[in-house]
Amino acid sequence: MSTAVSVATTRRVLAWHLCLAAGAAVILAYFGLVRLDVLPGTQVALYCSANAALAGASLVAARRHRALRPPMLLFAGSAVASVLGDVTYYFLALVHGEVAYPSIADLFYLAAYPLIAVGLLLIVRRRTPGWDGASIIDAAIVAVGAGFLVYEFVIGPTMKNSVADLVGLVSVAYPIGDLMLIVVGARLMLGAGPRSTALRFIGGYLGLVLVADTIYSYQAVNGTFQAGNQLDAVWMTAGFLFAAATLHPSAPLLVARSNAATPDATTGRLVVLALAAMTAPTSIMIQEVRQGNPDTIAAAIVCNVLFLLVLVRMTGLVRAQRQAAITDGLTGLRSRRYFEEALGNESARAARYQLPLSMLLLDIDHFKNVNDTYGHNGGDRVLVEVTHRLRELIRPGDVVARYGGEEFAVLLPATGPEQAHEIAERIRRGVSAAPIAVSESRLARVTVSVGLAGMPAAATTDELVLSADRALYASKNAGRNRVTSAADTQPAHAA
Ligand code: GH3
Ligand code: MG
Ligand code: MG
Repeated sequence: MSTAVSVATTRRVLAWHLCLAAGAAVILAYFGLVRLDVLPGTQVALYCSANAALAGASLVAARRHRALRPPMLLFAGSAVASVLGDVTYYFLALVHGEVAYPSIADLFYLAAYPLIAVGLLLIVRRRTPGWDGASIIDAAIVAVGAGFLVYEFVIGPTMKNSVADLVGLVSVAYPIGDLMLIVVGARLMLGAGPRSTALRFIGGYLGLVLVADTIYSYQAVNGTFQAGNQLDAVWMTAGFLFAAATLHPSAPLLVARSNAATPDATTGRLVVLALAAMTAPTSIMIQEVRQGNPDTIAAAIVCNVLFLLVLVRMTGLVRAQRQAAITDGLTGLRSRRYFEEALGNESARAARYQLPLSMLLLDIDHFKNVNDTYGHNGGDRVLVEVTHRLRELIRPGDVVARYGGEEFAVLLPATGPEQAHEIAERIRRGVSAAPIAVSESRLARVTVSVGLAGMPAAATTDELVLSADRALYASKNAGRNRVTSAADTQPAHAA
């Protein structure tokens, strides 16, 4: 890494750290002034500084990263609209004392929603340009569940309270704006693509804003809202968090294209989906407990229990399918794909703890003859029996995989060359120790050739596999039924 890059990284790290630290200081100062009931102009300025920070930081990010420019400009526009809303409201309050509702300030506040939603949508499009059906369903589940809560606590009561005039329309427009953020936010957070710190910060922003907006609307409907209460801290924290996201070094990853078509069904994701799907029955349950209708309570409980049972069943299917993808159908051994993944993980661990790592490649000798003599079924029986023997000969923690047709690979973590050679010899002798029953009446004698290679002698996993393969080839050339170490073969690149 060049000095220029590392200097730039350091400066960016400082920027987002400073942003969060400044945010904490501003929020404390704001509440100090509110409590003392002094300097209302400064209070407003401090309150607005959160969205001002977001506007400034988004503009910096738009300048810094070309790919982020369109969404960042929209975020900046949204933050500016919020600041304009606050400033307008403050001046209207100064001039008129009481501000009529709705006012021109509401126009600015409402404009902030679509701007941010479109910005988030642009990010979603960049991350998953294709049609990610599973993520869309996940997002729909969360959006419907969360949307129901917003409806239940905010939109419903608001519509009940207000008539169909401008006041009612504007009152409902806010929660609908929140609903829009829920839909887009769920799609962004549950879609495929890298989960960078910047993305988590934006998720935090959305969560905080939605919770604060919902509590605000609830309090507004019930007439319990008081300006300058703790909700301001939540809104301000959200603004500074979003600003920190745009300044974070991982911000460019926000628009990094995902390499997986569909995100994994992780436990965390399933819990989120389950909670979202349980909102409506749970809400019915709580209401009916108050009103005491046992039939409806029972039905709501049954809804949730059935849903959870179906989810558990589906999870089992997903797990089984994943297991099948990494398991060989004939022998039940791990697949080559799994082996390569395990090799990557184990080599990283070996490098971290400075441990040796060895691998063996085994190939059954003259297997074509086995097939020719005993038929394909006979050959299959031999493969299954060799697998049983391999399983008995390895230690717990070692990985055996079917690497090819009649080739097997064994991964030996924390095993040096001498020990690996002993294990290889034990396996070779063990596999050929007794003849294998290929049919009711016929026995086949089978031997294997083994190639052995190890890290750190091989610097990379590719080199490790290549060395093992070369050693196996040497075993075959030397007459089969033997173990050869990569160390004893001539590396191709040696002079
Ligand atoms: P060598 O000692 O050089 O390894 O000789 P070989 O006969 O084993 O040669 P090679 O490795 O090229 O042959 C592999 C054979 O394994 C060819 C293929 O028909 C057979 N084979 C591959 N997969 C299966 C399988 O799943 N079942 C059966 N019965 N045979 C398989
Ligand atoms: Mg072979
Ligand atoms: Mg063979």
